[in-house]
Amino acid sequence: MITFHVITLFSEVIRSYADESILKRAQKNKNIAVKIYNPRDFARDKHKKVDDTPYGGGPGMVMKAEPIVKAVEKAVGRKKHGMVKIIFLSPHGKQFTNHTASVFTKKYTDVVLIAGRYEGVDARVKKILRAEEWSVGPYILSGGELPALIILDAMSRQIPGVLGTHESLEEKRIAGRDVYTRPEVFEYKGKKYHVPKILLSGHHKRIDAFRTKK
Ligand code: SAM
Repeated sequence: MITFHVITLFSEVIRSYADESILKRAQKNKNIAVKIYNPRDFARDKHKKVDDTPYGGGPGMVMKAEPIVKAVEKAVGRKKHGMVKIIFLSPHGKQFTNHTASVFTKKYTDVVLIAGRYEGVDARVKKILRAEEWSVGPYILSGGELPALIILDAMSRQIPGVLGTHESLEEKRIAGRDVYTRPEVFEYKGKKYHVPKILLSGHHKRIDAFRTKK
């Protein structure tokens, strides 16, 4: 079982995706757990301030270090150091891939995902927490919630038992390939679109060969 600890100002974004379909089932079967921590709950001042203006000037706000460090401390508690991965989500990080998901899944019992907002998170957080900076792709999103969910989802699919045997075999067999379903002929704006004949043949060996070639 892997516990994902998501540090975010927008818990509903995480809940609404994680509590559906495969991830919902994975939580129910205790393959994964999803815990959410709002930095606001760890802010000390009476206004629960979690952001401030950037040193050196510039537009936007920066998320303050202390509420995030405290939230991560709460998440990690006394867990064994080597089993916990702390991920600082940033468009400038290393590119997260399916291979990373597979390696992390085998190595860690707890994954902390720090989702930034605004102009990002005070850079000292990375140093204090020895967090690794990871990106989900070469583009800039409005917040770290989607990146956190991408990593959570990709890792969960690698945990034995999360995908049913059938789903898992299908993933290996047809991953990345064109897929089709009924009807055999789909008519759109007067033109007919056919399913490749070989897929209707029932010859599994030939179908596999066709898909591999594709
Ligand atoms: N100007 C900031 C910069 O260049 O890093 C942009 C910050 S972005 C608007 C706000 C937050 O979204 C970031 O702190 C990060 O947590 C998250 N984020 C945006 N794009 C991301 C990506 N491609 N991968 C991972 N996290 C990303």
